[in-house]
Amino acid sequence: MAWFKREKKPIEQQTPPDERRVKTEGLWTKCVSCRAIVWKKDLESNLHVCPKCQHHFRLNARQRLELLLDGRWVEHDAGLSSIDPLHFVDTRPYADRLKENQKKLGMKDAVLTAEGLLNGRPVICCSMEFRFIGGSMGAVVGEKVTRAAERAMESKVPLVIVSCSGGARMMEGTISLMQLVKVSAALARLDEVRLPYISVLTDPTTGGVTASYAMLGDLNIAEPGALIGFAGPRVIEQTIRQKLPEGFQRSEFLLDHGFLDAVVHRKDLKAYIANALDFLVG
Ligand SMILES: [Zn+2]
Repeated sequence: MAWFKREKKPIEQQTPPDERRVKTEGLWTKCVSCRAIVWKKDLESNLHVCPKCQHHFRLNARQRLELLLDGRWVEHDAGLSSIDPLHFVDTRPYADRLKENQKKLGMKDAVLTAEGLLNGRPVICCSMEFRFIGGSMGAVVGEKVTRAAERAMESKVPLVIVSCSGGARMMEGTISLMQLVKVSAALARLDEVRLPYISVLTDPTTGGVTASYAMLGDLNIAEPGALIGFAGPRVIEQTIRQKLPEGFQRSEFLLDHGFLDAVVHRKDLKAYIANALDFLVG
């Protein structure tokens, strides 16, 4: 009765299950602005700017430092970590959220402080990480930015801060809000000793970060098409009961209305900052 028995061996599985994917998968990405399909390598070599429509994709904190600094840098205050002072719980405990982000991103909070060279000139550069709880500013971000300003004063070098943030960190309540004052005061001291601070606003820069250091630069420059504002457009529309104009809260609109000094394409950003520092410092 061999006819219902499988006498031949089953076909051998050549590839292990986790490799059973089309090899081109993940090599392409769709531009969120023009919907063009872009090869990821092309996007990377173009500084994460869409080659078709010039849409600026978001950079992470490290990519940003790689873009602006010459090669290597020294990181400062990398060990500062939030102590969750309010023992805050929303849909889940803030402490868990912190731990998860720290593990995932390999950093303790939403900003990196680096000391390095920008076109050969020593600078202190802060770079915000949006993936870390929306780049929100709690006690750690506030403290790190303040220390960066103080370090710039000590070493007598310019300060560059690249913002990418949803605003103050709600899980730290008033303590987050106090950072606005602390950072602003440190920047005022930097101003007194006549050291330049260049603020770079990237998509998005909103809330408490806009309301403090992002708008306090000697030069406030933004990348094209970045969302920059305090409250979101829907909140404003509901408050003033008016429809907002096209392009409201985008870099170009803010430049036209005197909130920014320049909108600079990513490929020109480093040269622009270097030039500005040559002009400001000599
Ligand atoms: Zn595009």
